[in-house]
Amino acid sequence: MKTEDKLNNLEVFEELESNVRGYIRGFPAKFVKSQGSMLWDETGKEYVDFFSGAGALNYGHNHPDLKQKLKDFIEKDGLAMSLDMATPQKEEFLLKFNESILKPRNMDYKVMFPGPTGTNSVETALKLARKLTGRHTIINFTNAYHGMTLGSLSVSGNKLSRSGAGVPLTNTNTMPYDNYFEDETDTSKYLEKMLADQSSAIEKPAAIIVETVQGQGGIKVAKDEWLKSIQDICRRYDIMFIVDDIQAGCGRVGTFFSFENIGLDPDIICISKSISGYGLPLALTLFKPELDIWEPGEHTGTFRGNTLAFVTAIETLKFWEDSSFEKSIIEKGKKTRAYLEKIAKKFPSLELEVRGRGLMNGIASPRRNFGEEVCKEAFKQGMIMDKCGPNGEVPKLFPPINIDDELLDKGLVILEKSIESYAFNQV
Ligand code: PMP
Repeated sequence: MKTEDKLNNLEVFEELESNVRGYIRGFPAKFVKSQGSMLWDETGKEYVDFFSGAGALNYGHNHPDLKQKLKDFIEKDGLAMSLDMATPQKEEFLLKFNESILKPRNMDYKVMFPGPTGTNSVETALKLARKLTGRHTIINFTNAYHGMTLGSLSVSGNKLSRSGAGVPLTNTNTMPYDNYFEDETDTSKYLEKMLADQSSAIEKPAAIIVETVQGQGGIKVAKDEWLKSIQDICRRYDIMFIVDDIQAGCGRVGTFFSFENIGLDPDIICISKSISGYGLPLALTLFKPELDIWEPGEHTGTFRGNTLAFVTAIETLKFWEDSSFEKSIIEKGKKTRAYLEKIAKKFPSLELEVRGRGLMNGIASPRRNFGEEVCKEAFKQGMIMDKCGPNGEVPKLFPPINIDDELLDKGLVILEKSIESYAFNQV
């Protein structure tokens, strides 16, 4: 094969990698470089990043401060792999996370390292809730996404993902998320009625697990009041309240935790994706100290002390010491939604709906293949962006939360042109 024919040629993946591969299909190129909010493929074509590693790169690619710390650490032959043994990096992470994130927010939580990925954190949360209460079932919500291992899958809604389980997904009861009926119905009242009614056939659950904004579910933003009602129900019925902040947390919606301005006080919190800030796998399960009933070694796993991830995670915590950081995320979010509203007005026939909080935004349309086609066109025009929602109907805007304004504008223009191209092809 000639050199130019090899560029962006994906035959090896088609031949040797499983059919299950996903993102490679939406972004069919071989990426060789990434910096900040930009990526480059083998041919030198550049792309604006409106994807952020599915939320694992909130601070952008290869952030220079993080990279330097990582290089220094590797240069000194620090322990890259330490299971859950003690290292100065893990110590510093625990201290800094406590000092700069938890304490200023009046949060008192124990930190558990459940395994390297988001789904590990969710599995652990479910396990702990069951162990604490002695109950089996978990209440989850329509369109939720919590991960691909069996426990997480049992509380997730997506039909395609669930169909891969191979066993019945049991011990859960699904309730309608906020605005499920797209009217004034308060679905928290429905949930409570089901719990209160001894003959509803709903068992008292160990926990209720919720995302404050459903990411994969289609950028569905729950109302503050609804979330508070869910928490309140948990308190009154003695049910563990779990917030899965894996996608909406680590600054995505403008605050470190997605729920901190809402007044939620979860029993258990799941964190992963951007906690290392460099795309290195790391997950945390946080819970109130009195809930720490684990026996030593009762939940273990090889990859729970990713020291490289601690090194970069420590650096990211510094961003949160400056309050202007939060403000800038909120501003960029407002600007994004204003632009999306403008697009929605420009193409009334597409019946576009703008959704989002902070820098977790989407624009939905009921028109055929809208998400798929818009993301495909954006890719052609030099931007990577994913789609979400039960039918992939929502192009999802997920730029790094520190993206500079110029690139944010550039991405929004590419989105507008991609929607324009979709609308043009409809007539
Ligand atoms: N919970 C939420 C809310 C998520 O968005 C995801 C990943 N998209 C997960 C859990 C699972 O994380 P992971 O893919 O790292 O297992």
